[in-house]
Amino acid sequence: MAGVRNKSVIIGLAAGACLCAGLAAQALAPALAAYYTPEYLSFKSAIIAEFKRARPGRFSEFASRGSAEPGDEHKVIALTFDACGGRNDGYNKDLIDYLRAEKIPATLFVTGVWIDKYPEIFAELAADPLFEIENHGLLHRLCSTEGRSMYGVRGTRNIGGVIDEMELGARKIGSLTGRRPVFFRSATAYTDELSRRVAGRLGMEVVSYDILSGDANRASAPTMSRNILAGARHGAVVIMHFNHPEWPVAGALRRAVPELRRRGFHFAKLEDFTVK
Ligand SMILES: [Zn+2]
Repeated sequence: MAGVRNKSVIIGLAAGACLCAGLAAQALAPALAAYYTPEYLSFKSAIIAEFKRARPGRFSEFASRGSAEPGDEHKVIALTFDACGGRNDGYNKDLIDYLRAEKIPATLFVTGVWIDKYPEIFAELAADPLFEIENHGLLHRLCSTEGRSMYGVRGTRNIGGVIDEMELGARKIGSLTGRRPVFFRSATAYTDELSRRVAGRLGMEVVSYDILSGDANRASAPTMSRNILAGARHGAVVIMHFNHPEWPVAGALRRAVPELRRRGFHFAKLEDFTVK
C-alpha cells in the first residue's frame, strides 16, 4: 500500500491521546473471557510462538511511516479522531455534523469499549462512507510487550496482551461492519517496535500522528487551530478526539479548515491517503 506518511513532528504537549483509559479498561478486563474462543486462543498462541525471541525495541509515540515526496502539488492532510472509551466519554455530535456538512472525509479510531457504550451511533458512523473506522484497541490499553506505561495509562503486560488489544479490537469492528481495520493506534499513541511488528503480522499498520491538535490537553479552539495550521504539510496526520463533546474540536476546525483549503489542502481518509 502506498502511503503517505509522516515526517513532520509537531511535538507538543504531553499526552497526544486521551488519558481516560485506565479505569474503564480495568473494570472491563474480565469481559475478555467472552472473546477467548478456542480458535482465538490457538491463533494467539501461534503468534506468541512466532515472536518468542523478539526484543521489545524502542518505546515511543512516533512510528516512522515514510514521508511524502517533496514537490508534490496535490497536498493532502488526514484528520483522525479517536474515541477512547473512558468513564466520561461521550459523543461529539457537533463535530461529526460539521464534518458531514463540509463533506470532510475522516478516519475514526474507535475502541471496543466505546462501541459497547454507543452501539447505535457506532453503526451510524460505520455506515457513512465519509468515515473510515479503524482500530483503537479493544479496551484502550497502551500496547507494550513488556508492561510499559505512559501518562498513568497502564500498558499491556506482554505480547499476549498486545495481541488481545489489537486482534480482538479488529475482530469486533470487523464483525460489526464487515470491514476489518487496517490501521491501529495504541492508547496514548505510545507503543514499542515489537508491538508494531505484531500489528503487521495481524494485518494492521500502527499509526501515531504528526500534528498534535492539543484537544486532550484542553486547548482552546484558537490554540488547536494554530497547532493544526502550524504543522500542516503534505502527508501530515492530525490527531483529535470525537468522544468529548465539551472539547472545542469543531470550533477549531471551523477556524482551521477554511485556511487549509485556501492553502490548497485536501482531506483524505488514511485508507485513501496516497501521495499523488
Ligand atoms: Zn485514546
